[in-house]
Amino acid sequence: MKQKESALVCLSGGQDSTTCLYWALSRFEKVEAVCFAYGQKHSLETEVARRMAEKAGVPFSLLDVSLLGKLTHNALTDSSVVMDKEKPADALPNTFVPGRNMLFLTLAAIKAYESGIRHLVAGVSQADFSGYPDCRDTFIRSLNVSLNLAMDAQFVIHTPLMWLDKEGVWALADELGVFDLVRTETLTCYNGVIADGCGECPACRLRRRGLERYLAHRGQK
Ligand code: ZN
Repeated sequence: MKQKESALVCLSGGQDSTTCLYWALSRFEKVEAVCFAYGQKHSLETEVARRMAEKAGVPFSLLDVSLLGKLTHNALTDSSVVMDKEKPADALPNTFVPGRNMLFLTLAAIKAYESGIRHLVAGVSQADFSGYPDCRDTFIRSLNVSLNLAMDAQFVIHTPLMWLDKEGVWALADELGVFDLVRTETLTCYNGVIADGCGECPACRLRRRGLERYLAHRGQK
């Protein structure tokens, strides 16, 4: 049964956040989506997010946080940085944007506060976190406490993908009836190619590996 409450989903138009959008629609009576323009090289990302929100019939807002791209030096916002193919053994991958999830969730919470929304949804995953510290459960819990203290609020940050690997995320999309939509219309690729992507970047390889595993297991059922 759906909760008679509203949820605000952080939506980037990728596999994870689009799956989260439909997860939220299956649980909450009203859902809205918020997307962030932070100076990512592929502005197509925000267009895909808008399209996904339109298809799902939920209100969409795009927030300009291009300051983040100007403050940081990473492979997602700076064309002069060549993307790490593999995660370096002793450091974060250079696709890491410091503070991104903290900033996005904080802004989402401010927006939610103003709209009387208590539930926030984010597609972060500790199981497949690519080494990003701000995708971990402890960080999300800590931020949840901080946001509540900061605004004297009762926010609940939902992270339905936290303990799912990419195979599990495909399974969830299928369960929610949006496997084909997620497969053919979302943008996960760091090189800005929709659906199966460029096939080469770390995001594409992770997505494809999960898809192959999921299809192999589904075929056996
Ligand atoms: Zn790619």
